[in-house]
Amino acid sequence: MTSTIPFVDLRAMHEEVREEIETAWHDLVDRSSFIGGPAVSRFEAQFAAYCEAPFAVGVGSGTDALRVALQAVGVHSGDLVVTVPHTFIATVEAITQAGASPGFVDIDSRSMTMAPAAVRRYIERECVPGDPLIHRKSGRRVSCLLPVDLYGHPADWEPLMELAREFRLKVIEDACQAHGARYRGRSCGTFGDAAAFSFYPGKNLGAMGEAGAVVTGDAEVAERCRILRDHGQRERYLHVTADGSNARLDALQAAVLQVKLRHLDRWNERRRQAARLYADRLAQLDIIVPQEQEECRHVYHVYAIRVNRRDEIRRHLESRGVGTGIHYPVPLHLQTAYRAMGVPAGTFPVSESVASQELSLPMFPHLSEDQIERVVTELRGALEEMRPPVEAGR
Ligand SMILES: *Cc1c(COP(=O)(O)O)cnc(C)c1O
Repeated sequence: MTSTIPFVDLRAMHEEVREEIETAWHDLVDRSSFIGGPAVSRFEAQFAAYCEAPFAVGVGSGTDALRVALQAVGVHSGDLVVTVPHTFIATVEAITQAGASPGFVDIDSRSMTMAPAAVRRYIERECVPGDPLIHRKSGRRVSCLLPVDLYGHPADWEPLMELAREFRLKVIEDACQAHGARYRGRSCGTFGDAAAFSFYPGKNLGAMGEAGAVVTGDAEVAERCRILRDHGQRERYLHVTADGSNARLDALQAAVLQVKLRHLDRWNERRRQAARLYADRLAQLDIIVPQEQEECRHVYHVYAIRVNRRDEIRRHLESRGVGTGIHYPVPLHLQTAYRAMGVPAGTFPVSESVASQELSLPMFPHLSEDQIERVVTELRGALEEMRPPVEAGR
């Protein structure tokens, strides 16, 4: 039988940097200082420069980054934060961890990110006009927009920022999947008041454990993040806020990230090459391939196609040794965890339809041309098998 193709395989990537990382870890063990220190501050400076932003603050995970960023820009307990139901749950967990609640709006069917028109509709139909903006039904203050650069493709930042200015909303960018993505000449991580990045191992820039960062252009927000990530203290044992926690980035992870950051652009370029080959080979099939919007740079954290009878196709691919993923099968407003919100099915038709059709094909920097051709062949086979209706009586 032919070989299997994993959904993600990061071993070749790590072989490329093994020596550099082992040297960096060796130095850290020599120094034996594992929290903070020069490894963390150096990585923070390098990552800020990579994002073309003034400040980066290392934290323990992408979820920490989102929560700390929300707290640092002044989202208060009881606020509503407007976000999308089609994202990883951490986006919304961070909102509730900050004491606020999510207000969902639907996504755009082409970019699969927050639809600016849906935000305007939410504000005009569900809120009382004024400053602050008050959500009519709950009486809560709408204080912040939280769009997601999903799959490595930027959200539609120009109209979203215009809405934020018009209605005086803070903006946090969930850039956890978008290291190196760009929108109209600007780097993801620079939109809004602050951005959150995750360095979960499978992300385009991944640690060898948990890690994340807040990126911001605002010195005060950066300083508040530094305090919030470290038990609310500026000086040791003098605590200035009760909202602090242990959300620090550890030095071993910072050392790994410093090494891998040097290779990120090349690895992203390889993902883009793989995406070009997929798009070329899949063009004639009855599926929707990812659409890079005008003046955007997609970094393909996930190569998300949309297809009918997705679960059957997935099973077929699985049986032929091709690994796939689903990002994400159940939109957040329909998750058991958020049942208490009482949002019925049918409320966010684009998110719901994407959730039923999305299929993530193998995507990682060292995915070979041969592997892509195999995935395409198996996918074509699956679609052909599905085309005629199944004969009765068999
Ligand atoms: C990965 C991810 C997060 C959370 O990051 P962790 O480092 O796993 O905490 C948040 N939002 C999105 C969109 C993500 O993909």
